[in-house]
Amino acid sequence: MYDIVIIGAGASGLMVASKYKGKNIAIIDTNLKVAQKIKISGGGKCNITNAKVNEQNYLGNPTFIKPILNAYDQNELLSFLKVRGCEPILRKDNQYFCKSSADEIITILKKESATCRLFLNQSVLKISKKEHFLIQTNRETFEAKNVVVSSGGLSYPKIGASPIAYDIAKSFGHTIKTTSPALVGFTVQKDQFWMKELSGISLKVKISVGNKRFCQDLLFAHKGISGPVVLNASLYWHKGLLEIDFLPDGSLKKYLKNSNKLLSTALPLPKRFIKAFLESIAVDDKPASKLSEEETQKLSKLKNYAFAPAGNFGYSKAEVTRGGICTDEIDGTNMMSSLVKDLFFVGECLDVTGELGGYNFQWAFSSAMRVNLSAC
Ligand SMILES: Cc1cc2nc3c(=O)[nH]c(=O)nc-3n(C[C@H](O)[C@H](O)[C@H](O)COP(=O)(O)OP(=O)(O)OC[C@H]3O[C@@H](n4cnc5c(N)ncnc54)[C@H](O)[C@@H]3O)c2cc1C
Repeated sequence: MYDIVIIGAGASGLMVASKYKGKNIAIIDTNLKVAQKIKISGGGKCNITNAKVNEQNYLGNPTFIKPILNAYDQNELLSFLKVRGCEPILRKDNQYFCKSSADEIITILKKESATCRLFLNQSVLKISKKEHFLIQTNRETFEAKNVVVSSGGLSYPKIGASPIAYDIAKSFGHTIKTTSPALVGFTVQKDQFWMKELSGISLKVKISVGNKRFCQDLLFAHKGISGPVVLNASLYWHKGLLEIDFLPDGSLKKYLKNSNKLLSTALPLPKRFIKAFLESIAVDDKPASKLSEEETQKLSKLKNYAFAPAGNFGYSKAEVTRGGICTDEIDGTNMMSSLVKDLFFVGECLDVTGELGGYNFQWAFSSAMRVNLSAC
């Protein structure tokens, strides 16, 4: 009988193991190695957290999220790493990345959880509870006083993602908020097919989606649009229109004032982009002074290009899963299910999803540190 069985050896699961090292703990993971998402995150350098973190950076219930982030914030996380020899460095947009590789963090988490028994290449199938929990995998059955479900969401199934957290939660009567891919690129409809020709071009834009605004790089991709600004917008987009300002640093008037230059020269945008854009609105590349009123009107779309994406690139490309286990049924003071004693849920499986910039790992670690076992 284990004190704790932890389902999922990712960021949140390993942090719980670290918090309770010394206890009799089993960690089960489908993968052959631990922390595979940390390994591939942030281009291999893991964007672990952000200099500015608050509940507004998350989709979910702010009243639930705030005290959990506050109790273990980015400074706590950074000092946890620092005393263990890892000092992430600040890069653009206040993001903290490992100096050389994500292995810096994985090594620490492995060391911190070294006293736990690790069962890799093994998948949890279901859990039941009588006096204690019975955790059934594809190989054996474990018995535990406490279970921590830290098996993440549905993104990147090729490195172990599965719906087991939702299945377990549902089997115990929990409500699941509809899940969908997020922090993901958009596919486009026919009217925006001109964007697909621009694959490889990147430019700074402002995107407005609902009451959220993001000003970052947009990357035109083979299948549609991507890049940080699109990934962030995808978190808040459901259906319907979003708006792009392709000239976030100035007005159209400012660039075209008294200009006898061709539009493709006068506007501070990649030439390939402006040519494709002009073609899509049926305006010739000519000097601004020669534009008709109707053409100027059409050109003003550069400042407020409204369109509805067709969809997104799906779970195979999404960094996270939006939605998940409803936090109304989780006790935010200890991450225990309000329906089943000694059953805990942490990390991405919950209905808490962060923006791009280290917010999701911060949530994984903050929620893990919030676990407070009553029976051990
Ligand atoms: C490509 C990519 C890049 C990312 N980059 C960043 C970044 O730079 N910064 C950031 O903040 N966030 C990033 N994220 C998001 C971040 O990785 C996740 O939000 C975070 O890992 C969630 O932590 P977790 O502990 O909840 O789940 P995970 O880290 O996903 O861990 C869950 C574990 O559970 C295991 N598991 C699943 N099902 C089962 C089962 N049935 N039985 C046993 N084990 C199971 C999985 O194999 C996995 O190891 C990125 C995600 C991706 C896909």
